[in-house]
Parts: sequence; structure tokens; C-alpha cells
Amino acid sequence: MRFHFPVVIIDEDFRSENASGLGIRALAQAIEAEGMEVLGVMSYGDLTSFAQQQSRASAFIVSIDDEQLQEPAEAAAVIEQIRAFVAEIRFRNADIPIFLYGETRTSRHIPNDVLRELHGFIHMFEDTPEFIARYVVREARNYLESLPPPFFRALTHYAADGSYSWHCPGHSGGVAFLKSPVGQMFHQFFGENLLRADVCNAVEELGQLLDHSGPVAASERNAARIFHCDHLFFVTNGTSTSNKMVWHYTVAPNDIVVVDRNCHKSVLHAIIMTGAIPVFLTPTRNHYGIIGPIPEEEFSPEAIEAKIAANPFAAQANDRRPRILTLTQSTYDGILYNVERIKERLDGYIPTLHFDEAWLPHAAFHDFYGDFHAIGEGRPRCRESLIFSTQSTHKLLAGLSQASQILVQEPEQGGFDRSVFNEAYLMHTSTSPQYAIIASCDVAAAMMEPPGGTALVEESLLEAAEFRRAMREVGRDLEGSWWFQVWGPERLAEEGIGDPSDWLLHPNERWHGFGPVSEGFNMLDPIKATIITPGLDVEGDFDEWGIPAGVVTRYLAEHGIVVEKTGLYSFFIMFTIGITKGRWNTMVTELQQFKDDFDRNQPLWRVMPEFVGKHPQYEKWGLRDLCQRIHAFYREHDVARLTTQMYLSELAPAMRPADAFAKVARREIERVPIDALEGRVTAVLVTPYPPGIPLLIPGERFNATIVHYLQFAREFNRTFPGFETDVHGLIKGEDGEYCIDCVRSTAG
Ligand SMILES: *Cc1c(COP(=O)(O)O)cnc(C)c1O
Repeated sequence: MRFHFPVVIIDEDFRSENASGLGIRALAQAIEAEGMEVLGVMSYGDLTSFAQQQSRASAFIVSIDDEQLQEPAEAAAVIEQIRAFVAEIRFRNADIPIFLYGETRTSRHIPNDVLRELHGFIHMFEDTPEFIARYVVREARNYLESLPPPFFRALTHYAADGSYSWHCPGHSGGVAFLKSPVGQMFHQFFGENLLRADVCNAVEELGQLLDHSGPVAASERNAARIFHCDHLFFVTNGTSTSNKMVWHYTVAPNDIVVVDRNCHKSVLHAIIMTGAIPVFLTPTRNHYGIIGPIPEEEFSPEAIEAKIAANPFAAQANDRRPRILTLTQSTYDGILYNVERIKERLDGYIPTLHFDEAWLPHAAFHDFYGDFHAIGEGRPRCRESLIFSTQSTHKLLAGLSQASQILVQEPEQGGFDRSVFNEAYLMHTSTSPQYAIIASCDVAAAMMEPPGGTALVEESLLEAAEFRRAMREVGRDLEGSWWFQVWGPERLAEEGIGDPSDWLLHPNERWHGFGPVSEGFNMLDPIKATIITPGLDVEGDFDEWGIPAGVVTRYLAEHGIVVEKTGLYSFFIMFTIGITKGRWNTMVTELQQFKDDFDRNQPLWRVMPEFVGKHPQYEKWGLRDLCQRIHAFYREHDVARLTTQMYLSELAPAMRPADAFAKVARREIERVPIDALEGRVTAVLVTPYPPGIPLLIPGERFNATIVHYLQFAREFNRTFPGFETDVHGLIKGEDGEYCIDCVRSTAG
């Protein structure tokens, strides 16, 4: 495999005819003769911008002209430039070779702190260009050779090897595609390497994901080192699967489990699959629909025991003590918990503490996050409890979709059993894992190795802060006219990300609206930015006019911006390590454009032509008319309070979730129309989008609030086609009425 990483030579004389130019070009030629590409750049002016090219280079050679160092003021300036250049590179990259190139007497002017960070000073006239080239190329090659982590390295070698395969997959390294025209297109689109690297687990030299052997195992160990955990397992079916693996290692039928009520649906699936008896911890919510923290008191053994005592199925439990706690660590909106405080309360009481960190794999790489993530450098072990963190590598790091990982931190007393764990792992893993996903787990971890990983997280944090400042500045410039708010603490540092304590949630602050949260227990992850649209305040009161977020995000979608999640009057975007200034600037500009179009009530056919094409009934409306009608509808139904109440309402389980779902498998269910749902027991998950958080779990009864909400959603969807609230679980019955599958009344 040939990779393109040129040696970058920075020399003002690179193209000139003087001695220095001739010398450096001779060196460049000699390097090329050794088979390495060279990129010569002349401008010495902005060295730090070259430093940002470090990810594409195999080495840097910075040539210094002795004349520049004769005059003290100029010399100081040049040295300062070089120092900044080296610092900029070393901030991200500890290993790439950097050479200074110049006359021997020049080297004496270079201070030690700069020399220390270099691979060497190349003495211009002391050796032949060929000799120097061999030295530079050797260092550059060693550096490149050190980059790939074990599995990715083995895979690239294997794919380059060109051996004929007799095993699956049936496309034989892509050859099958070449036999058909549409297959040819597929091949050209994805390229040779993806297909050559798509191999089956019969290939011994790559090791096995399923038994964690060979290069796969070496990569998992490498990732465990980088993420500071005792064990790490790559998972190729997303954190949805990682969560189920953790559960099947720990939870058996009729075990009591403690679960965040706003958990991801995969955790609810795990409850159903294991036959557990769940007791739920209920997060706070504000009227923007933003999910807040579970109050700290809920994490005490006494509070949990009270919930168990109140649970109608606890009597049939194996043991009154819970087996596992699963907590969403970084909620959709970016609320984090102080993990040490939770460990302190529950160590020894709940034997397994599982943090669903699907959105938080970056936290271990920056001091900013302190104790607000599960496992990291120097974090103390529990005495008795095992810690799991499950992370979606693909959500915030550079993993392919479905790349995920499970981190394990053993307690002081030990007791994690890898071979037992692997039995649970195998229950959920395909016997044909996708090798490109494994490679991306491997590379995503290697990328996070400090200092590179720390720099990436720092950049996300900085860009997120810059974005917030830019939004505030637009607001100030508008002098009293309406503008979007970015949800977060009032105080925002004037530059940089500020102190981590700036991002803590303090009791009874108005911005969060979560009431008397415990001091120091929660913080907001700045990389998640929830943008609030006008029309609703944090108390749930509607203004005279407003802009439902769904209109803004449809508008943005038509302008090429797709956001992560849309609520009633909020939507959110993320500053992943893939963020760039350009991208968030575009967001700010488009929001300004939206404001302009809104203020002028521009006709929808002009500003949202695609949407109007699909829904011509809106053709004659203006953007402001549309917002106002939807807003009036929300207001009339007091929908902010309604959704808050429905999520906070007491939900009485009538059956264990597994028993209710068993009714589905046996078809002991019936489709019940919305208006007849009150008091009925759902057999399926009921999940409104937004926010995508399950509302009812199999075995729970519909109450009046939830039925009321479903009636509202039905009415809304009839009135505003194109803006439908999707409720998963709702199906169209034979007569066109919306229904939900409930446990048959004779059975429930
Ligand atoms: C997305 C998500 C998951 C599932 O992760 P996938 O990698 O998409 O399978 C689990 N938990 C939470 C909190 C999530 O947001």
C-alpha cells in the first residue's frame, strides 16, 4: 500500500537561483530519488499555517538562512517564528520528524528549548545531499511505519498482498462486482480497497473479533491503554449492541435493575430480552423539552429501596438488591453527571454501574471533563462495583457507523471474567463482523492518543465556544430584535472555553430550569449546542408569537444543513472532532437568512421550494404565517406542559416488560385505537419523535395524559402535513384509525 505523505520543505529560496536555492533543491531531488514525495513551499511568512498540515506530511525540513540571524532583532523574530511553528506541531503531534537545515554556525543561534523538540539540525555543507536524504527518509519512514495501530496495519498489509481468496464474502475481494454493469458502478464508487479489505474471519493473520485474538486483540489492548481502562472490546453493531452485551453479562430473568427513565431504547430492549424487573430513576425536564439530570438524592440506596418496595413485581425478584444501574451519561442535550459522586453512593450496593456514554467517548482526552465521565486516567476504582462504559465511536469520534466500544474498569476486589463476558458478547455479534468497522474502531482510538486526541477535543470545545460567542454577538448587533439563543449558562468566557466550573449547573438557575440541582453534581457538555427558537419560555409559557423549531430545521435542511435533533422550540447541533469553522459559520449565516425571510414573511414557494413542492397546500403562505399557525396550535393545546407532564407522569407497570412482549410473540394482543387506550397495557414501546425517548414500555398502562398527547399528535398531523410528529408504536389500523398494539384485554 502506497500512502502519500510528502516531506515538506520550507525554504524562502526554494525556487531561487542562489546557492541556498540550489542546495535545497539538490536535497529535494535526493529525497525524491529515495522514493519519497517532496513538497517545497517558499513562504516563510506564516509558518504556523504549515503546522496545520502535520497530518498530511511525513517530515518537515525548515531551512534557515544564516543572514537572517546576523541582525539581533531579525534573528529574535525568526527564532520566535520557528518556536511557534514547532509548538504548533507538537501540540498535535509528538512524533513527526522536524529538521532545521542550515549552516553549522546557524545551529549555534537556536535555543535549546527549540532544539529539544527537533529530530536534528542538518548541517548544510557537511554531508552530501544523498547522505542527508537517506537520513531524512529513514526518519520519515520510521515515523509513518509507527502510525498504524495493529489491526489496521495488518489489514492494509493483507489487502495489499493480493492473495486469492476461496472463502466468503462471495464477491472475492470485489471481483464479483466487476461482472455486472451495476456492480461495476458499485466498485468504482467504493473503490478497490474497501472491497479488498472486506474479508471474512477465516483470515488467520488478521485475528478474530469473536474470540479477541491476534491483531484484533492487540488493537483492543492498545485502545484499552489509550482510554485508560482494564479491558476494552470493539463492537461492530453500535452501542445498541454494546448495551445488550453488558446486560446479558449481568442480568438474568427476575433480576431487579435500576434504569434512567430517559435511556436509549436499546436499554429497554435489554430489559425485555433479559426478563428484568426495572425500577426507574426519573430525570427532571424543563419546558423547552430539554431533559435534565436525575436528582442526586435518587442515587441513594434508601431512595432506590423505596422504589423497589413500591414495585408490584419486586416480590417475585430473585434478590431485593439491584444487579445493575444504567445511566445515560451525556443526555441528548449534553447533561453530564459527576461519576465519583455516584460511585461513592452506590459502590457495593449495586454490583455493576453502567454508564451509557454513547455521546461521550471524547471526555477522557481533556482535563475539562474532570470527574464528569466514567473511566479515565487516574480515576479511582470502586471497592466492589464493576464499571462499564459503552461508547459510540461513530457519534463523536472518527468511527464508521456502528463502530462502538465497551470499556471495563474492575473494582479493587477484581472479579471481571473475560470468558464469561465473551459468552454474552457472542450472543449479540454477527459471526461475520465487518472488518472496515473494526479498523475504524482501531484508528479512531489511535487518533485520540495524546497529544493529538487532546488537541482534537480542545478544538471542538473552542469551536463550540466560538459559535456561542458568535451567536451572542449577532444578537447584540440586532439591538432588541428577536434572535435565537444558545442554551447554556449566562456566563461565557470572553475567549477560550473558560473554566470547567463555568459549565456547572447551579441550584435554581433560570437558564436550565431544572430546579434545586445539587451543587457540583452536573455540568453541560459545551460541544452540544441546543439552539432555542422564540415563542416559549423555560416556564412553559407561550409568547404571542413564536417560531416552532421544526420550521427552522426544515428550512435549514433545504439549505443543506441537517441538524441532529429537533424539539418543539429547540434543536441541537454537535461540535464533533470533524467540525470546522466554515461549517458553523454557515449555520450562523443561514440562521440570519432565516430571520430575514421570517421578518419579511417571504412566501414559502420562494424560501422552501422543495417543501412546497411536496406539500402544495402551503404554497401561498408566508414563512411567518406558517410559524404563527403552528405556534398558535401549540399554544392552544399548551403542548409544552403537556409533554413535560406526560414524561413525568407516574407510570404503573401492569406486567414485567418481558411478559408483555411475550404476548406479542404469541399474538395475544389487539390493536386499540387512540381514543380507547386509557387504562390499557401496551405490548410495545411507544416513542414520540422528537425527542425519541420512549414514553411507555411494554407492560405499562396508558394514562389520561398520554392519551391526551396522542390525540393532540393526531390532530396536529392532520392539520400540518409535512410537520408530522412521528410516534413509534402507533400504527394505522384497518379503518385508518391510529392504533397501538396492547395486551389483549382478557389477558391483561
Ligand atoms: C445512539 C445511542 C445509543 C446507541 O448507539 P448506536 O451506536 O447508534 O447503536 C445508545 N445510547 C445512547 C444514549 C445513544 O444516544
